[in-house]
Amino acid sequence: MPIFEFECTKCARKFEYLVRSSGDKPECPKCANTKLKKLISGFAFTSKDGSGATTASSAGCSGCSGGDCSSCRH
Ligand SMILES: [Zn+2]
Repeated sequence: MPIFEFECTKCARKFEYLVRSSGDKPECPKCANTKLKKLISGFAFTSKDGSGATTASSAGCSGCSGGDCSSCRH
């Protein structure tokens, strides 16, 4: 069961979320927003400046760049 780190696109709150199934939808614990940016934990990649679009292929496909569309989840 992988634990992913997400950042809320609304309030920039970062939190970890345990994904139990591929259909599991995390939401921000602060504002309940479900539009989240998936962060890569345990990997030399930080997206604080938002310029790492082509760096992490596992963060999502080029269509959504957030790991949260049907074509980048299996
Ligand atoms: Zn939020």
